[in-house]
Amino acid sequence: MHPQGHRVQRYTQELLQPWADSARSLGLKDIAFTDHDRYHAGIDFGEIDRLRERNPDLRLRAGIELDNDPVHSPAGRKWIEKHWDKLDFVLGSVHFLDRADQMFDSVPAGAAQFEGRNIDELYADYFRRLRELIAIGLVDSLAHLDLIKIHGHRPTADIGTLVNETLELIHARNLAIELSTAGWRKPVNELYPSNSIIELAMEKGIRFTTASDAHSHVQLGENFANLARKMAEIGIRRVCVFEKHKHAEVSLQL
Ligand SMILES: [Zn+2]
Ligand SMILES: [Zn+2]
Repeated sequence: MHPQGHRVQRYTQELLQPWADSARSLGLKDIAFTDHDRYHAGIDFGEIDRLRERNPDLRLRAGIELDNDPVHSPAGRKWIEKHWDKLDFVLGSVHFLDRADQMFDSVPAGAAQFEGRNIDELYADYFRRLRELIAIGLVDSLAHLDLIKIHGHRPTADIGTLVNETLELIHARNLAIELSTAGWRKPVNELYPSNSIIELAMEKGIRFTTASDAHSHVQLGENFANLARKMAEIGIRRVCVFEKHKHAEVSLQL
């Protein structure tokens, strides 16, 4: 969840409490704040503690999403190192390709970065950047693993090897990957990641976290009923939660 949205908004009870209220009304008992690292100045662990005291019926995890933003993420990484012991959870994500000034996943503007380009090469570039991010470390779970499909561009080549290499690295580092319903509200209109990636991850014994990637408390838990149905179909019976970077598996009652 991104309580700050896309600007620095200092954590206060006024900012955070609506998220707790939304979670409660949806029956979500365990949620994680994961604002983008470029807005780390807004994060206040004391305010998260206060929110925990005021909402003892909920598990409220302190997290952050570490990006590959060439401008801001070096500072974000330093901030994460400094506050590592206060954070439950770090998501890792790739939002930047060649352009340092625009996330390729901005809708619709980011689609221009795909125009006239070789889509297979962009996929290879995306997964290479993802492996770089994983290799640097400081991450517990990978967000929206196949975000590169966001605008609906499909590779012509088989990406099995690219995906396999990436999942091997994720497995070797003992990281989780995220099942994100955000893809269903984007042009691609698909869960992140795709079925074939999920199945390959399951074969490797990789764990899953779940997310709606909400940028407003109104988006919280969006499409979770569809996600639950899909997980039941695929045979995912457990999800992973993090406390101070240690994972615990929660069995689902579907
Ligand atoms: Zn965002
Ligand atoms: Zn993201």
